[in-house]
Amino acid sequence: MPDTSPDTGAHESGFNFDNSWQRDLPRTYVEQAPDYSPAPQILVLNVDLAANLGLESSVLAQNPGWFAGGEVPPGAAPVALAYAGHQFGGFSAQLGDGRAHLIGEHLTPDGRRFDLQLKGSGRTPFSRGGDGKAALGPMLREYLISEAMAALGVPTTRSLAVALTGEDVRREAGRLPGAVVARVASSHLRVGTLQFWSARGDHGTLARVVDYAIARHDPDLVAQEGRVLAFFDRVIARQARLVAAWMGLGFVHGVLNTDNVALSGETIDYGPCAFMEAYAPGTVFSSIDHQGRYSYANQPLILGWNMAKLAESLLPLMEDADRAVEVLNDRLSGVEDLYHAEWLAVMREKLALHGAQDGDADLATGFLAAMEGQGADWTLAFRRLAEAASGDVTPLRALFADPVRLDLWLPLWRARLREDAADHLRAVNPLIIPRNHLVEQALQAAEQGDLAPFTALLAQITDPFTDRPGREAFSLPAPSGFGDYVTFCGT
Ligand code: AMP
Ligand code: MG
Repeated sequence: MPDTSPDTGAHESGFNFDNSWQRDLPRTYVEQAPDYSPAPQILVLNVDLAANLGLESSVLAQNPGWFAGGEVPPGAAPVALAYAGHQFGGFSAQLGDGRAHLIGEHLTPDGRRFDLQLKGSGRTPFSRGGDGKAALGPMLREYLISEAMAALGVPTTRSLAVALTGEDVRREAGRLPGAVVARVASSHLRVGTLQFWSARGDHGTLARVVDYAIARHDPDLVAQEGRVLAFFDRVIARQARLVAAWMGLGFVHGVLNTDNVALSGETIDYGPCAFMEAYAPGTVFSSIDHQGRYSYANQPLILGWNMAKLAESLLPLMEDADRAVEVLNDRLSGVEDLYHAEWLAVMREKLALHGAQDGDADLATGFLAAMEGQGADWTLAFRRLAEAASGDVTPLRALFADPVRLDLWLPLWRARLREDAADHLRAVNPLIIPRNHLVEQALQAAEQGDLAPFTALLAQITDPFTDRPGREAFSLPAPSGFGDYVTFCGT
């Protein structure tokens, strides 16, 4: 039979949508198309990611409406998802995609499944008082930081594109260019997705969503007896590993509400996040985190708290209701040890230790104690261990206001080094992270129409480990005049 369908571009683009959420989870979402954009324009397109997904970037580039809103690629079926969440400890029974649209689930040629989501693409039934829109700066910020995370080897949602809508948004700072980020995720299942159904007492839907999550993220558990508990273990394991990876990099997520915790174990929802410079455990960037709930050092504790909320939401599904509370509590009391083991594994790598010995945790905390209060930049301190391993401690010592504790620690560390320590240290400790002052410069320039600083910074942060000339300006912390860095969410 001749193909009479219009030439839609779907095949040429490589998009291959298979929207399992709609198929498997009826009545858990709202059908909702992204807003119309008066003048869609792609500002940034992730050509490498597109290729990795089997997408044809030249076709994507010709379809800015797919990324700014107004049009959807053929085969897409845009929806807004429902979820709940504990925000700063207080429960909101209904949050949901208030400014985001799940465009569809793309199957790559090699069979991987990814959500394509637009964020900043207009109002939905979950928007509450919000305008459903986003300003350019925060969308570029998500692009930049998520791509840095990916390059640093941390599980994360990815950014495929940022597009201007051609419309201004009103924010406290005034009128700002409106933009949309297109992000790609293994799924948008959050702890808060389960909380939404659990809090309503709709255990039938809750069970279906959990089965869907298991099928999507832990398919080997599908047929297993006791799979809900096994799934809980998997989520805990992924989250423990994720938070340990963040801690190793000095990353502060900034808003670890349960709706911003992905069951996939990917870093999600880049809002007020930032990388710590001088090591200080209490580091907070978010303007609204007055209590330091989501400070650097509190992230492992919040991990436990968020997993307790996940446990509560799963409780109605536990097979052995009599023992369920006891069993879940037992798992929760293990989170701390699990996290500690992940953290120690990260630190053994970051310090290039030979094998594993009993005193390694003390050795790691010894280095942190030496850094604390010294103004020592987290990223550079670890990076410069490479020179120290080869006998030149000067660059490392220069980071410390008073290196007296460092000097006591160095011989203990040297005694534990693996043979290829210097190379190993350069391979695991980045030279380049997205420096806060450079991120701000890049976003401000972009708002003024100059994308060059953003493009230059992006090229640097997506190649974090290589030593080569010309990288100094990108590797150094903010000049002292930059002051304390403050970030904002939901903008
Ligand atoms: P976030 O702080 O981005 O994790 O968002 C928390 C909740 O607020 C989610 O339900 C978002 O969809 C919603 N939200 C954030 N910004 C907006 C906005 N501009 N318009 C509508 N809803 C929003
Ligand atoms: Mg969120």
